[in-house]
Amino acid sequence: MEYPELTLLIGGRAVAAGQRPGLEVIDPATQAVLGQLPMASAEDVDEALEAAHRSFPSWRDTAPMERAAILRRAATFMRERTPRLAWLITRELGKPLAESEKEVATAAEMFEWGAEEARRTYGRLIPGRTGGIRQMAIPEPIGPVAAFSGWNAPAITPSRKIAGALAAGCSIVIKPSEETPAIALEIGRALSDAGLPAGVLNMVFGDPGEISRQLIESPITRMVTFTGSTAIGRQLATMAAASLKRATLELGGHAPVLVFGDADPLHAADTILAAKLRNSGQICTSPTRMMVHESVYERFVERLAERARGWRVGNGLEAGVQMGPLANPRRLAAMETMVADALDHGARLAAGGQRLDLPGWFWEPTVLSDVTTECLAANTEPFGPMALVQPFTGMDEALEQANRLPFGLASYVFTRDAATARIASERIESGVVCINHCQASLPETPFGGFKDSGLGKEGGVEGLQEFMQVKYVSQV
Ligand code: NAD
Repeated sequence: MEYPELTLLIGGRAVAAGQRPGLEVIDPATQAVLGQLPMASAEDVDEALEAAHRSFPSWRDTAPMERAAILRRAATFMRERTPRLAWLITRELGKPLAESEKEVATAAEMFEWGAEEARRTYGRLIPGRTGGIRQMAIPEPIGPVAAFSGWNAPAITPSRKIAGALAAGCSIVIKPSEETPAIALEIGRALSDAGLPAGVLNMVFGDPGEISRQLIESPITRMVTFTGSTAIGRQLATMAAASLKRATLELGGHAPVLVFGDADPLHAADTILAAKLRNSGQICTSPTRMMVHESVYERFVERLAERARGWRVGNGLEAGVQMGPLANPRRLAAMETMVADALDHGARLAAGGQRLDLPGWFWEPTVLSDVTTECLAANTEPFGPMALVQPFTGMDEALEQANRLPFGLASYVFTRDAATARIASERIESGVVCINHCQASLPETPFGGFKDSGLGKEGGVEGLQEFMQVKYVSQV
């Protein structure tokens, strides 16, 4: 398979590099240059905004059934093209091909869910105070959307944003990550092959700071949606607030895991490790801060470490590989710093902790036990294959630890006791609580963080509502 020529997508046209400066896209497993990504100029971004502005009224007025048919067709194209799409994800991000195939399937489901839900954007009739009055609450698409997605779920994240916007009847300008552009462009291709009118979806790449400012400050944009770090999310939300635009933000997490004494520690360790090492730990819901009851602590740590040592790390294109490289050298540097700092603060290295002697950005699956709250990794999201384990004695202590940080995206609880599960799920401050498993989000479920982990929801009915505003119409 060949890596494609990279372009921008503006007003239905694939815009090639021309005189534009290029950015190298790198394969994290080999450090080979995959291609050159054209950087959008300010004029390109203006054109994309104009295209979204021009195409919005007719897309808004397209019947939801018709919009749904296009989204469903696009999902079918994505499924049919799975081998190519998955290959692109693995080349750009590094994760094993089987994981990339699952990501393509989930991304296609985002469009299917949007297609189904587009037909159910119901309003309400509110009884009048006198006879003969009709009071209606009518949801309408909010308008052109500016979207920004990260590199770590390079098919799912753009698909969530594009599917939500299009299903609601909005046009969109999206800036996917410059590190994973080809997979985003393939999603755009599936939509245009499915009959999406030109200009409804536009894709630009370039300098993230400049593009985000231009898109967010433009009066054409009515809503901002971002997935990425809390620091950048805060900046974008501040800009959106200055021009009174709604912002949906999916930001960083630092997911706590509570393993109670009545849980099976071996089963919990196996389930948690598989979730931890998915996408080399570069997932905002990745289980990271593991608080384990002292009665099962040693068995849990031993099992976690044993499994981590046996995990097969390598190029994601090779059969049997369970974990690929990290996506970029920034993550590798973060792993090095965080492991050294944790050891300085008295943590014990139970598995991994080293860079692998391979040409790409590979890091061993790492388990640190007896971790204290003072170390860097316990406070800053590692976003890598790093599990931090510490013991606890009582439930209050475990919940205090779980809620210690300003983040609140996902959390995990392992227990066989119904009362423990109920109390933990009520008291943990996070947008998602998974009990006895680690599947934090699906297309049909609301996903979003509390506290510094974000604002608003993506996915589910709630996610679609973010792209709509309610008009009250009263008629006598
Ligand atoms: P980063 O903060 O530099 O970038 C995060 C994402 O935001 C990237 O995709 C980047 O292209 C984009 N971005 C950066 N500046 C932007 C701007 N001004 N406007 C719009 N988009 C902008 O961090 P990074 O080194 O790429 O990733 C490291 C950290 O980011 C991780 O520790 C993790 O916390 C977070 N992250 C989270 C998610 C998520 O799914 N919540 C995704 C990617 C990264």
